[in-house]
This record gives sequence, C-alpha cells and structure tokens, in this order.
Amino acid sequence: MQLSDQNQYTIQGIDPTQLTEKFGSPLYVYDGATIRRKTEALQHAFAGVNMKIKFACKSNTNLAVLRLMKEIGVELDVVSPGEFEMGKLAGYDASQITFTPSGVPFYEVKEAVEAGALVNVDSLPLLEWFGQTFGNTKPCLIRIKPNVAAGGHEKIMTAHADSKFGISVLLLDDILEIVKKYDIKIIGLHQHTGSDIKDAEPFLQVADILFETAKHFPDLEIVDLGGGFKVSYMPGDAVTDMTLLGNKISERFKKFCSEYGRELQLWFEPGKFLVSESGYLLVTTTVVKEDPARNFVHVDSGLNHLIRPMMYGSYHHILNVSNPTGEEKPYNVVGYICETDTFASDRNLPEVRQGDTLAFLNAGAYGFTMSSNYNARFRPAEVLVDNGEARLVRRRETLEDLLLTQQGL
Ligand code: PLP
Repeated sequence: MQLSDQNQYTIQGIDPTQLTEKFGSPLYVYDGATIRRKTEALQHAFAGVNMKIKFACKSNTNLAVLRLMKEIGVELDVVSPGEFEMGKLAGYDASQITFTPSGVPFYEVKEAVEAGALVNVDSLPLLEWFGQTFGNTKPCLIRIKPNVAAGGHEKIMTAHADSKFGISVLLLDDILEIVKKYDIKIIGLHQHTGSDIKDAEPFLQVADILFETAKHFPDLEIVDLGGGFKVSYMPGDAVTDMTLLGNKISERFKKFCSEYGRELQLWFEPGKFLVSESGYLLVTTTVVKEDPARNFVHVDSGLNHLIRPMMYGSYHHILNVSNPTGEEKPYNVVGYICETDTFASDRNLPEVRQGDTLAFLNAGAYGFTMSSNYNARFRPAEVLVDNGEARLVRRRETLEDLLLTQQGL
C-alpha cells in the first residue's frame, strides 16, 4: 500500500476505503502487482540454475490468485485433495501439481498419483504401500526430515527431530531397503524446514544434507528445498536476502550437480514469500472503548478471519487508512468474537474513530485460508487488484452458506 503526497493510502491507485464502500467490510484485498514482483525476485535470484517454483497454495487458494500464478509460470504444491482440485480448476495440469501430504489416508495418495500428480512420500509405511501399489510404474519424491531446527516460531518449525513431518534422515537405510525391495522410482528428494527463516545458513545446512542423501538415489531429477523465506512484517524488519541466498544455494547446487553427474531441477515451495505482502485485511472500527486500563479498538472481524496473531503471536502491521495523519495513541486492537482475539496490544496508531477503516498488512498468506465460521460469522469477500482494476474474486458468505450442509432444517 502506498501513501501519496496527499497523505492518502492507495493500492494501485485505488483508495482502500472505496473498496470497503463498494464490496463491504471486512474485506481481503490482494495486490497482483506485488505477487508478480515477488515471483520475479525469486526467479531472478535463482536465474543461474534450473529452478522451478511450486506455490504452497495452503497459504492462499483463491482461484484468481492461482490463475495469476499459472499465468506467471508458477506451479503448485498442494496438501489435500481439495487443494489439488482447486489447482485443476485454476487450469493446472495434474503433472504441474505436487502433493505433499502429512500422514493422510493412503487412498488420497492413490487418487492423486492416478490423476497424474507427483507425491512427496512422508513416512516409511506410505513408502512401503507406494512400493506395493505402484512398484516401479509411478515416480515419487521422498520427504526427508533433516533434523534441523529453524523458523520464526516453534509451531512453524517442521524439520527438527521432534517434528511430525517427513522421514528422518537417520532412517536412510530403511528407506533404501524399501526402495530396493519394490524397485521404487525415486525422482526427487524434498524437505521443508519451516516458516519465517531469515538467514541463509539453515537453508544451506538442509541443502547440504539433501545433497549428501541424494548420492544414494541414482535416478533423481529434482531436489526440493521447500519454502519458508522470511518476509517483512513490521517496518524495518529483516528479511531473507534473496540475492545472497540465490547466489549461495545456486553455487552449492551446481557443485552438487557436477558431482552427481547430471543437471537436476531445484524446486522451492514458497507460500508467504509470494503472497503475504500482497494481501490486506480491511476492517471497520465498530467501537472505540476508552477503558481506565487501555484504549480498546473493536473491529468487525476477529480470530475467525485472521487467526495468526492469536495462534502464533504473529505481528501484523496496522494502518488507519481513514485517518493517516491523526495524532498517535496506543490501542489494543481487538475483534468481535467471544474469545480473547487481540490483533495488537499497546499499538500506536493515528487516532482511531468509530467507522474508520483499518488495514492489517501481510494478510495474503494464511489469512483467508485459515478463516472459519466461528460464532456463526460469515467469512469476508476477497478482491484482486490487478492491472489497476479491482475485481471481486469471492463474494461474502451469507446465512444460506452457513446452513448449506445442515440437515433437517
Ligand atoms: N512447503 C511445505 C511442505 C509447507 O508445509 C509449507 C508451509 O507450511 C510451505 C511449503 C510454505 O511455507 P512458507 O509459507 O513459509 O513459504
């Protein structure tokens, strides 16, 4: 969001308050230009190697966003049959979609493989079943747990020894035994370390572990290093230096490929990096409550629409787009849900008045996709702003939507 010389916030020249007037509040808004810019930055950082981006669409499954990804040459990583179907509806061929399950029923894997998707096998029992079911007729990747702890919060670390994800690299002998027993065609190794990883070091550490492990698999075509690049959440926040990371990883990857004897593909599965900063949750102030202890700003939203602050303690920067030049005061910004749903504590904001529009930043990843109907509240509408035009890409829910699956009405 830009602040103009006239002290007005805009998204591609559009005043966000006009968007809430037209499409209602609360409202998720995605800026397509930011998605394009972030994608180009990642492509540019790894221009020296054969790199493919698989968007981790758990972060945002709006079909308009998926179609935009497809248009700019980004493929998909999915974690459920539902996401797989959404990918296909967005125009992806099944072969462009990778299924990265986590302890799912095997029939989900069977259906995905038979439909043409590649699967990241994440447990020894699944590998055994894969071998029994497909032998060497279908290729797959193996999700390795490298036992490296990195990430912004313990709940978003996924590669440490205690994590449920993947097959521990310490079980390499067992993996090899099963692969040999069924002659399984392993074409790739995968790992995902976690989210909000700023420094290059953990990425290099896990890359080295995968490269070392890869030497035991002669038919590889892919090394997938997952996602997890850190983006900026607060002004001045340190972020992953993509140019530095691109140079360092590319250099090691090239060395690995020459030792391996073949040029492989390097895959990444970013979610946040591509969409977090593109998204805004626009909300309206319902009540400003001046309590002896604190000033509370209630908004027409809550943990049902953006759960990250309550779930991970995540910081989301907040702008008062209705009063950018107001005098700053400290507020607790809270929701309307009957739970403690604090978006921000003791946050300095330009004076907030009832009816003001606030914008939560970094709402493009794990915002709408983690939303719910708690308290029988409707989920917001979604708007995509692209090429200077704002388009409604999901209508607001209604009572009929909430009742759709209930029986005996
Ligand atoms: N890949 C896998 C397997 C994941 O579980 C996740 C996030 O949970 C991602 C990629 C994307 O992570 P991020 O949004 O931090 O880039």
